[in-house]
Amino acid sequence: MDWIIFYPLFVMGAIVGSFLNVVIYRLPRNESIIHPRSHCPQCKAPIQWYRNIPIVSYLIQRGKCAECKSQISWQYPIVELITGLIWGWSFSTLDPQLALFFSILGSVLLIIAWIDGQHMLIPLVLSVTALTIVILAIGLNIVSWRNALLGVLVGVCIPAIVMGVMYLSTKRIGMGFGDLQLGLILGLWLGPFKMVAALLLASLLVIIVWAGISLRSGWDRNRPLPFAPYLIVSSCLVYIAGYYQSDFIAGILLT
Ligand SMILES: [Zn+2]
Repeated sequence: MDWIIFYPLFVMGAIVGSFLNVVIYRLPRNESIIHPRSHCPQCKAPIQWYRNIPIVSYLIQRGKCAECKSQISWQYPIVELITGLIWGWSFSTLDPQLALFFSILGSVLLIIAWIDGQHMLIPLVLSVTALTIVILAIGLNIVSWRNALLGVLVGVCIPAIVMGVMYLSTKRIGMGFGDLQLGLILGLWLGPFKMVAALLLASLLVIIVWAGISLRSGWDRNRPLPFAPYLIVSSCLVYIAGYYQSDFIAGILLT
């Protein structure tokens, strides 16, 4: 990892994250993501550019709107921070083409994860965008198409089987078709082995979170829990871990 590249790309990623926040807020509300300019959701006062510095402005204003002093959600700096880390890590670690691919895909996946977490839905425009990015990467040979085809089988079939079994045993559909679309996209990207790992890790995370919520607020088997955020976080972690693991294995083979 090259820290001289990391810092400027972290800043760039945080600026991208600032735009992702706009999409996360406006897309599910069917508002334009370009117009009007950023404004406080409470008092509607436009946010001046010097008060719109990612992460920094939030910290300086202690999470409050400069005009009406109402609380600004902690989600804004967190999304900016995560996007900054994705861009910083990618460009300081991967080769430029792969870094650009992972940064852009990671940013779109972050929007999907956040919107699904809040609204339990994945807007089609986002699925199509993510799918287009992955297909482009296959076309450019950044992602191997053989791996991609096998990955789709895993990414779509396993969730479909789980959905089928859940439906037959409980007459409820635990996951939506948005999750199948996501399985398709992530399967294409990750290939079969990483996709299995991502599905297992996501299931484990869901069980842990489910148990945590149940302990705090009581058992409710009808409590809905979005799957996409867990699957996306797991996929990115598996992807990053896979990078270091192959480095690790190569290191052993070379010494
Ligand atoms: Zn305000």
